Formats: sequence, structure tokens, C-alpha cells
Amino acid sequence: MSAPPLSPAELRQLVRTVPDFPEPGIQFRDITTLIGHPQGLASSMHHLAEIARAAQAQKIAGMEARGFIFGAAVAVQLGLGFVPVRKPGKLPVATIGVDYALEYGTDRLEMDPAAIVRGERVAIVDDLIATGGTALATVQLLREAGAVVEQALFVIDLPDLGGAARLRDAGVEVRTLLQFDGA
Ligand code: AMP
Repeated sequence: MSAPPLSPAELRQLVRTVPDFPEPGIQFRDITTLIGHPQGLASSMHHLAEIARAAQAQKIAGMEARGFIFGAAVAVQLGLGFVPVRKPGKLPVATIGVDYALEYGTDRLEMDPAAIVRGERVAIVDDLIATGGTALATVQLLREAGAVVEQALFVIDLPDLGGAARLRDAGVEVRTLLQFDGA
């Protein structure tokens, strides 16, 4: 990076809040504006990568779709492999999958179990943690594939939704760069 990285407080200013998307009452924290800034993605990657480096991650996993942006950048920065955790039906090989509950209905994530070497330390990266349902499903999948998952990194935390606390209960340390109150 040529310029010094933006601070988490500066990165927070780059997140656009869109009220009532995708439903009334939700404050959508949109990272489009963050990654569109010349230093936004690089600075986010810098801070996340330093945390993953300290945790001695051996591989990075990211969830479709925004986890791919930050997770792949962190993997490149650290010289590590990247594991895409995908929405259903996207991978061309036999997958393992997990169904998980959303506020209304269910969703599913899938991965290639051969992407993990048994015992490998994998850090999860995503843009935002809300209820933690997506991240917990990812932890479950990675552990089923043989990974040691003890660290999850997010750009944004919505602490009032309790996701970080749920992940900690599952034995995963959670680190986030910035927080917003409310849902
Ligand atoms: P959850 O499974 O509830 O932790 O939700 C996590 C996923 O939903 C994240 O990958 C986010 O991309 C997205 N998400 C949930 N709530 C919001 C929000 N208020 N603003 C932006 N994205 C959100």
C-alpha cells in the first residue's frame, strides 16, 4: 500500500447506511462505498490481515458474496489459499452442505471438502456479522471438512444482534473493525 492505511474510524465513515432495505426497519450497512474508495478495500484488508497473521491462520475462508471480496484480499496479502463457501448448486464437485435458519425460512451453504487439509487452521472473513447464522453455518461446514476454526474476522459488527456472542459460544474468537448500534 502506498498511502498509510485508513483507520477503522475513517473506514466507518465510508460505509453507506440505507434505511429500510431489504425490509422496513433494517438499516442496511452498504460496503459498496467503502470498497469504491481508493484506500477503502486495501485498508480493510490491511487491518484484517494483521489479525489473521497474528492468529497464525493457514487458510482463509469467505462466504458468498461479500466475504469473497475481503477474504480473497486477506488471503493474497498473507500468501494463503482461499476457500469459497458458496450458495447452493454452484460448485461442480461433490460438496458438503449445511442448512441454517434465517429470520424467515432457511438458507444453505456448500463447500468442497477437499479444499481443507485435516487440522488446518482456517480463519473466516466476511463483511458483516449480524445474527451470526451465516458464520455459524460456515464454522460447522469447515469443521466437518476437518478444519480447526478458532477465528472469524468481519469488517462490521452489529452487536445488538448477538452474532459475535453466538460465535464465541461456539469457541470462535471474533474480531471486527467497526460497529454500528441497532439492527
Ligand atoms: P447473519 O447471518 O445474520 O449474521 O447475516 C450475515 C450476512 O447478512 C452478512 O454476510 C451480511 O452481508 C448480511 N447482512 C445482514 N444484516 C445486514 C445489514 N444490516 N446490512 C448489511 N448486510 C447485512
